[in-house]
Amino acid sequence: MIPRTLFSHEHEMFRDAARRFIAEEITPHHGEWERQGVVPRELWRKAGEAGLLCPNVPDEFGGPGANFLYNVVITEELGRAGATGPQFTVHSDMVASYILAFGSPEQKRAWLPKMVSGEIVGALGLTEPGCGSDLKALRTQAVRDGDHYLINGQKTYISNGQLCDIIVLACKTDMQAGSRGVSLIVVETNRQGFERGRRLEKLGLKAQDTSELFFHDVRVPVANRLGEEGAGFKMAMHKLAHERLIIAVNAVATCEAVLEWTVKYTRERKAFGRPIAEFQNTRFKVAELAAHTQSARVFVDRCIELAVEDRLDSTDAAMAKMLASELQCRVVDECLQFFGGYGYTLDFPIAHAYIDARVRRIAGGSSEVMREIISRKVFES
Ligand SMILES: Cc1cc2nc3c(=O)[nH]c(=O)nc-3n(C[C@H](O)[C@H](O)[C@H](O)COP(=O)(O)OP(=O)(O)OC[C@H]3O[C@@H](n4cnc5c(N)ncnc54)[C@H](O)[C@@H]3O)c2cc1C
Repeated sequence: MIPRTLFSHEHEMFRDAARRFIAEEITPHHGEWERQGVVPRELWRKAGEAGLLCPNVPDEFGGPGANFLYNVVITEELGRAGATGPQFTVHSDMVASYILAFGSPEQKRAWLPKMVSGEIVGALGLTEPGCGSDLKALRTQAVRDGDHYLINGQKTYISNGQLCDIIVLACKTDMQAGSRGVSLIVVETNRQGFERGRRLEKLGLKAQDTSELFFHDVRVPVANRLGEEGAGFKMAMHKLAHERLIIAVNAVATCEAVLEWTVKYTRERKAFGRPIAEFQNTRFKVAELAAHTQSARVFVDRCIELAVEDRLDSTDAAMAKMLASELQCRVVDECLQFFGGYGYTLDFPIAHAYIDARVRRIAGGSSEVMREIISRKVFES
C-alpha cells in the first residue's frame, strides 16, 4: 500500500489520543444517543478538554494553534469509528473556520476561546426550506435598524440545531442584489425571537440533532456581521471548498474502516465449509474496492496538502467530495452484502455505515452540483 506522508510523529500521537477518547467517551454511548437523537452537552466539554475542538485556533484566541492536519486526524478518527453523532466538524471546520478567516479580532476573542473549550457549540445556517443548492435564493432577511439588524426567516437541516449557542447565519441584507445581497451574521441563540424547531427524523445520522431554526424579529448588533455587508456569498463559496474536503476526508477514512471490518468478518464467517473470504467473488470485489479506496486516499491526501498551504481550489474540492462520497456509498453497499443477514441488522456497524453514508452525496452540495462545478472548469477554455 502507498504510505501516507502527511503526518508527523506528533500527529500520530494526537491520533492515538483521539482514538482513545472516541473509544472511551463516544462509542459505548453512541447507540443510546441515536435513540435520543442528540449527543449530550457534556460530551462537548469533554472533547474541549481533550483538545478535540478547533485545534487550529491560534493560542491568542484560546486554541492550541496547531495546523489543519490535526483537524484532519479528528475527522478521520470519527469516520473510522462510525461516530456520526458528534458534529465536531461543523463546529471546528466550518463555524470556527469562518470566524477565524473573516472575523475581527474582537469577534475572535468573543467566540473562539469558548468554542475551543466546548463551552459554546456552533452551527452553520445556510439552507432554507426553499433553497439549498442555490444559496443566493435564500429568503432570511436582515434589515438594518441603527446599529442592529432585525432578522426574520427560517433555516432547515441545521446540524447542531438543538445544541448550538451561536449560528453563522446566511441572510439577505439586500433582497434585490442576488448573490451580492448575502451577508453572514453571527447570531447568539439566547437572543429574543430565536426559536428551535423540530429535530428532524432522518434515515441515518440518528444521533445528530439536525433541526429547523426560526428567527422572528431577532435583533443582532451590526458588530456581529462577519466581513463586509454583501460579501457573504463569496465567503461561503470559499469555505464550502474546505467543507467539501472535510467530507471527503471522512468518507475515505470510513471506506478504509469498512474494508477492514469486511476482511475480518469474511475470514471468520464460513459458508459451504469454508471462509467467505476464500470465494473468488469476495476476494475480487474487496480487491477492487481497496484499489478505488487507495486511489481516493492518494487524491484526497494531495488535496489536504494543498489545503494546508491554502492552495486548494473549489474544483479540486468538488472532485474530492464527489469521488469520495460516491465511493463511500459503493463500499458500504457492496461490503454489506458480505455480511449477509447480519449486515441488515443494526447490531452490526456495517448497517450503520450503510444508512449513514447516503447523506454524503447530498449534504455540503449534492453530487450533481459537484459535477456542475467541475464541468464549468473543464469546459472553461
Ligand atoms: C443530515 C444533513 C445535515 C445538514 N447540515 C447542514 C448544516 O449544518 N447547515 C446547512 O446550512 N445545511 C445543512 N444541510 C443541508 C444540505 O447542505 C442541503 O441539503 C444540500 O445543499 C442540498 O440542498 P437541498 O436539500 O435544498 O436540495 P435541492 O437544492 O432542492 O436539490 C435537490 C436535488 O436537485 C438536483 N440539483 C440541484 N441543483 C442542481 C444543479 N445545479 N444541477 C443538477 N442537479 C441539481 C440534485 O440532484 C439535488 O440533490 C444538511 C443536510 C442534511 C441532510
